[in-house]
Amino acid sequence: MELRIGYFYPDELNLYADRGNVICLVQRCRWRGVDVRVVPVELRERFDPDEFDILILGGGQDRDQRVVADDLVEVKGEALRAAVESGAVVLAACAAYQLLGHYYQPAEGDRIRGLGIFDAYTVHPGPAEPRCIGNIVVEWQGRTLVGFENHGGRTVLGPGAAPLGRVVVGFGNNGQDGTEGAVYKSAFGTYMHGSLLPKNPHFADHLIWLALKRRYTDVTLAPLDDRLELAAHQAALQRAKAGD
Ligand code: GLN
Repeated sequence: MELRIGYFYPDELNLYADRGNVICLVQRCRWRGVDVRVVPVELRERFDPDEFDILILGGGQDRDQRVVADDLVEVKGEALRAAVESGAVVLAACAAYQLLGHYYQPAEGDRIRGLGIFDAYTVHPGPAEPRCIGNIVVEWQGRTLVGFENHGGRTVLGPGAAPLGRVVVGFGNNGQDGTEGAVYKSAFGTYMHGSLLPKNPHFADHLIWLALKRRYTDVTLAPLDDRLELAAHQAALQRAKAGD
């Protein structure tokens, strides 16, 4: 089997080492003998909606978001929307997550338009308000996801978006309603950096499984020896719960 990963804006949206999500997916595919290819999709580059099985977008500061926002909407928007509607897997972290919503209103300057793939909008409450920073634990499908968050924007979900999970420790979407992230079809938005996937092998495998079963119908992933990954998960979980 083969998987094609599109890694979007690798230079502009990688402030929090979200490139680790790509590395983790590649390795977990290779350990299973799945051929995997990573293609960077840069500013001003177009792509075909059927070109990728998994699309990865990372985090960045407000100024990084301004750099990519017009390109995301005008150059890549139509193909990205079509890819999501056809069931392609998307993992968008933080800044990218915000730009896949309807809009992001930064602390300063004009509103930044988004793609509206997630029925959500994000507003930064202003530079005087504290940022949402710290370790985060989320309950997802009966399991925990661990990570780190650092965002000023507060995201509110509309009726068309389901949350990724429920906040156990940390802020999540807005520090108010207990939700974290958003899900629409096989597109996932999250505020969780770390990067997210290496310490959450169960979620990484969920993305791989979704992508493979979309191309090869009935797919079962061979289990991997995740003792190291799960030890890291537990360590992060304990640290978050201890408030470290
Ligand atoms: N610039 C956005 C905010 O501050 C996203 C930050 C990020 O990608 N971590 O909310």
